[in-house]
Amino acid sequence: MKNQNECEGCTACCRTHSVLAIGKQVGQDCPHCDWNVGCRLYENCPDDCHRYVCMWLRLKQDGRYVEELRPDVCGFVLNIYPEQCQLWEVESGSLEQEKTIKTSLIMANQNQRVLHFYLDGRIMEFHPDGTKTERPRTH
Ligand code: SF4
Ligand code: SF4
Repeated sequence: MKNQNECEGCTACCRTHSVLAIGKQVGQDCPHCDWNVGCRLYENCPDDCHRYVCMWLRLKQDGRYVEELRPDVCGFVLNIYPEQCQLWEVESGSLEQEKTIKTSLIMANQNQRVLHFYLDGRIMEFHPDGTKTERPRTH
């Protein structure tokens, strides 16, 4: 996460993502997180935390505030990379909203690689033909 002002109280990636420097695994709540407030040790938090920027925040930094992509509103943390689009589950079940699944299917149909990362370690990949495959996370 960035600082509290930038993230506006969102702390979603402090659960969804791993932080190797402090032994935090994907899906674990970080012990340093004041949930929905911010990081308690912000100035001293690991470089990975300082560097990480989700798609909502990136757009906001570019002057485009997209409320629907706020992780604590939509239920997923979005990352878009050249090779794949990632949606990370924020609350158990929050990736199962019809709107979210539909959007992922549409993106996959347009030949984008779309992956859902669940808190329990599953990864779901959406394919262009409308099918999905599931596998456990390996790292
Ligand atoms: S998910 Fe995005 S907005 Fe939320 S804390 Fe992380 S970087 Fe900030
Ligand atoms: S150290 Fe701070 S910024 Fe990093 S995951 Fe924990 S609470 Fe979030």
